[in-house]
Amino acid sequence: MTDLLNVDDVLARILSDMQPLSQETVDLSRALGRVLAEDVQAAQDVPAFASSAMDGYAVRADDLAGASAERPVRLAVIGDIPAGSQPDFTVGAGQAARIMTGAPMPAGADTVVPVEDTSDRWTTDGAAPLADAVDVLAAPERGRNVRQPGETIGAGERVLSRGTVLRPVDIGVIAALGRASVPVYRRPRVAILSTGTELVPPGEPLAPGQIYNSNSFMLAALVTEAGGEPIVVPTALDTVEDVRRRFDEALSQAPDVLISSAGVSVGTHDVVRTVIDALGHIDLWRVNIRPGKPLAYGQVGGVPFFGLPGNPVSAMVTFEVFVRPSLARLSGAQASDEATVSATLADDVTSDGRRSYVRVRLSHDGEGWWAHPVGMQSSAELMALARADGLLILPEGVRRAPAGSRYPVRLLRTPSAGGG
Ligand code: AMP
Ligand code: MG
Repeated sequence: MTDLLNVDDVLARILSDMQPLSQETVDLSRALGRVLAEDVQAAQDVPAFASSAMDGYAVRADDLAGASAERPVRLAVIGDIPAGSQPDFTVGAGQAARIMTGAPMPAGADTVVPVEDTSDRWTTDGAAPLADAVDVLAAPERGRNVRQPGETIGAGERVLSRGTVLRPVDIGVIAALGRASVPVYRRPRVAILSTGTELVPPGEPLAPGQIYNSNSFMLAALVTEAGGEPIVVPTALDTVEDVRRRFDEALSQAPDVLISSAGVSVGTHDVVRTVIDALGHIDLWRVNIRPGKPLAYGQVGGVPFFGLPGNPVSAMVTFEVFVRPSLARLSGAQASDEATVSATLADDVTSDGRRSYVRVRLSHDGEGWWAHPVGMQSSAELMALARADGLLILPEGVRRAPAGSRYPVRLLRTPSAGGG
């Protein structure tokens, strides 16, 4: 066991090869999920002008001291201010102006009384004829229902930081600043090459001894989810010539990263290593991780290369542990999306002392999370992984974790809080 490399050391070594890619500018309509390459600052105050937060009447608070339903105060109505207009009058003592939500405050007024607190029974679009006077049934505090300039964002304020993965609300904020496009990091192009003479593409019939290629599809989906652009190369037979041909094909696509699946263990037909030795260099690391011990990492044609195990569960776990953080680094993302929760084991778990990523379902009892190991923990059991909410991380050296002990769980999806 002592010759196995520590997971964190291996990841740190890999990450030291990853630098954010170049920038490009994208329209806001295409910016979802992209990573900001520069801070976004407000060029002007938001809102830019004082405006009403309600449909109602713009008034002077001093006129309304003591107003109530029993003792209404009557004000002369001198104008109407729809949203998108600019009032050219001044509200004087004893006067009011009808105003819509979002419309600019007229000079002289400092407060808005909602229409519900007046004698006016107009409710809808403000097209109702303007009355000469209105009775106000409440005494608002000065400044009530007025949005002040710069209240949300002040001019020059940093609104979003470089490295932010843009969410819908961030895109709304950028639009509110008047910007139609943003600088983002280029998405990593990730070539995916599954090797194995036994592999057949889904949709085709299986001959005896063949299996469907699940890894290419799963890895492409993982890459997309991680913000990359997958480039799937046809599968290679387990011959040096065919693997070589497919690697050349993958490299001709100018990828930023190349991922292969299978063919890196010590089986006699595991020829990936031979090919990489010719095209670049490879470190075949025996990593202290379960599942996924054999991990090949190196450079092919100047491109970082991951040789993931062929077993689908191992392929996905090693993607999560090593490739996802690498893609985040290449994409310039500041915070990675590797959410974890702390959970109590519902059953005993045994391990061989390697750092183990145990597939678990999660339930919540109102006080905390419980982790239920899913039945089959074999590295070939993709179904079990599909049923899991997360990977419970048993540290190195733990061979038996009793029910009731607490460990971090890396989430694979948002668990439904009930369940059990
Ligand atoms: P290997 O790494 O070549 O020893 O493969 C380990 C196991 O994973 C074998 O059972 C393979 O058949 C299986 N396997 C390899 N590649 C894939 C793939 N692309 N999709 C599904 N299973 C695979
Ligand atoms: Mg094989």
